[in-house]
Amino acid sequence: MAKRDYYEILGVNRQASKDEIKKSYRRLAMKYHPDRNKDDSQAESKFKEAKEAYEILSDSSKRETYDRFGHEGIDNSAGGRGHPGAEGFGDIFGDVFGDIFGGGRSNRSQVFRGADLKYDLRIELEKAISGDSIEIDIPTQVTCQGCSGSGSKKGTTPTNCPSCEGTGQVRMQQGFFSIQQTCPKCQGNGTVITDPCTDCLGLGRKSKTKTLSIKVPPGVDNGDRIRLSGEGEAGKNGGPTGDLYVEINVASHKIFEREGANISCDIPISILTATLGGDIEMPTLKGNVSVKVPPGTQSGKVFRLRGMGVTTARNKMVGDLYATILVETPINLSNKQKDILKEFYNSIEKGGKKHSPRHSGWLSSVKNFFEKIAS
Ligand SMILES: [Zn+2]
Ligand SMILES: [Zn+2]
Repeated sequence: MAKRDYYEILGVNRQASKDEIKKSYRRLAMKYHPDRNKDDSQAESKFKEAKEAYEILSDSSKRETYDRFGHEGIDNSAGGRGHPGAEGFGDIFGDVFGDIFGGGRSNRSQVFRGADLKYDLRIELEKAISGDSIEIDIPTQVTCQGCSGSGSKKGTTPTNCPSCEGTGQVRMQQGFFSIQQTCPKCQGNGTVITDPCTDCLGLGRKSKTKTLSIKVPPGVDNGDRIRLSGEGEAGKNGGPTGDLYVEINVASHKIFEREGANISCDIPISILTATLGGDIEMPTLKGNVSVKVPPGTQSGKVFRLRGMGVTTARNKMVGDLYATILVETPINLSNKQKDILKEFYNSIEKGGKKHSPRHSGWLSSVKNFFEKIAS
């Protein structure tokens, strides 16, 4: 199912401040909170949706990733399926609400795989066909070197969380109910960082722009993806690194159009060449080739050059080149030239139908058509 845009979910514009995002989320969370909407599954999914949107947009680095890569960029990190993501939630409701919703979050020291990233690579048709080596810059999250990703200052270790005494769960009294919930102070980890690493401020990861060299195989097409294993975002708590997917986006070409393995182009020729025949230079991916145009060639005639298309990257299919002839009508004629042309056509009129194969065929079709209507 396609996910809705996070900004749309929260009803804020893309330039919304942190405060606006927070206000909007609070309003939605109050409205759809399961406590107020018992047995209403629509409210429940609206609540989850708003919560997920808030988790991403309230975190400036996740928001940046989302702005750049959309859902695909963050699907495997926070907000994705099965992520506990209690941070941000406790922020607003703190000890009042806590995360009483979506229970069963008792895992301690959650290990997360880093987010997969998607990069749109726009390349020229020629490069897509011949293959290329391209350098790209991508913003990503890498493991902090200062603390090896632990978030604690070198030489220190996280201490037991004082709120939950290391269990990761706390009991809350709410009306008649006593509810077990994820500890908001340590987000269920059971430990808290008392002496945060100064490099990453306790996050364990840092934003960094990486330069990567990408080998584009020959024959790639629109939508083809190149997977760079382990080049996505760093994992959390020692989790594995995500992957980077480079999606090919081929720019449109001035001469050629591509359809799978085949390519096509238009070839304008003069009335003279079309009438008398002759050799023309036809552009192909391998340079110009000479093609014989027979006398009496009509506009729209398609020449097929076998094996002159693309060898596809996926299944090594070899395509053909289809060149469509366009007979050009001369323009900007002088009076003298017009007179010569008129004289020429007068002589053709006398020759009867045999000089215009299409026109006579077309005329008889029209005649048949009207006869059918009349009868
Ligand atoms: Zn650090
Ligand atoms: Zn705790």
